[in-house]
Amino acid sequence: MTSNDSKPKPDTTTTECRRCGTCCKKGGPSFHLEDKVLIEKGIILSKHLYTIRKGELSFDNVKGCILPASSDIIKIKGHKGSWTCVFFDEKNHECTIYDTRPMECRVLKCWDTREIEKIYAKNRLTRKDLISSIEGLWDLVEGHQKQCGYDLLTLFIDALNTDKKDDALKGILEIIEHDIKIRELVVQEAGLESDLTDFLFGRPITETIKMYGLKIEKNGEKYLLVPTGGTSLSG
Ligand code: SF4
Repeated sequence: MTSNDSKPKPDTTTTECRRCGTCCKKGGPSFHLEDKVLIEKGIILSKHLYTIRKGELSFDNVKGCILPASSDIIKIKGHKGSWTCVFFDEKNHECTIYDTRPMECRVLKCWDTREIEKIYAKNRLTRKDLISSIEGLWDLVEGHQKQCGYDLLTLFIDALNTDKKDDALKGILEIIEHDIKIRELVVQEAGLESDLTDFLFGRPITETIKMYGLKIEKNGEKYLLVPTGGTSLSG
């Protein structure tokens, strides 16, 4: 769906959701403050979620293009690496939490997107809303955000084509190493479940860096930054 004039006109012949599951297979919803209660009541667990962090490139469904996120966007994970929402039961073709599904799922009418366009970017739920009261854990999340924020990463990536290339490369590799280490630390030292890390620290930068035309390779203990289809920048 897009907000420009070329978008399809609302289908006035359809009046209610046929529960076809098409939207559930295109990616889970983003969370709004109104959905906080679903997580607090344990209807949706943190391990079912992942965070798109502030500044991270992501597809804006209303504007119809890839943009840096203006805040945390908390979303439901896909099933086994696919886009299909983890709560969609493919066999019975139904939402397993239909009566308590998040707000975007309730508001979305695929035949008329005007209602979801109004709420899409408003009152987004953030990690701070959910876990800032958990002392220790929140410090780790904030520390990670400071050292591995997308604003900083983007600055370094932009500087790769300048005479500051060496510093930029060093900065990017430090961010990546810290992003990897913090995930290992909370699992190995603090005993957290590994499927919580995409919610706590966002998707691994080793994956999201592909959005910038870069990838990470490992040579022994050393990480190398490689342009997609190119050779290592690390020398
Ligand atoms: S929560 Fe339910 S309705 Fe919403 S995308 Fe997932 S399966 Fe579909």
